[in-house]
Amino acid sequence: MQLRCSYCHNMFALSREAALVALHTMESENLQHYDAHCLSCRRANTVARDRLERAYPNWQAEYKTMMKEAAKAEKEQAALEKKAAEAKKEKSEAKKKPKRKSHGKKSKAK
Ligand SMILES: [Zn+2]
Repeated sequence: MQLRCSYCHNMFALSREAALVALHTMESENLQHYDAHCLSCRRANTVARDRLERAYPNWQAEYKTMMKEAAKAEKEQAALEKKAAEAKKEKSEAKKKPKRKSHGKKSKAK
């Protein structure tokens, strides 16, 4: 969503993610507006809640999806870290069991 700063009149973008988070915050805190900070002069521009709601009429579902994706990404990150930790462990165990072959998709070494 493009906004025009009411102080310096520069256009700046409010990302979809930021808008969805703002809508969620306004709902949970019962606020009627959101302060979007101008990228040029950093001053807060008031954006009415209904304006955001009109821009994202399906924001609740979109917010849910976004959070789900974030949780999924976090999970994947955790899985990767776990894998890395296990790989480390395997490496140290490899001395005991030298016959272990790495199976799986082409993994990037390093
Ligand atoms: Zn500005």
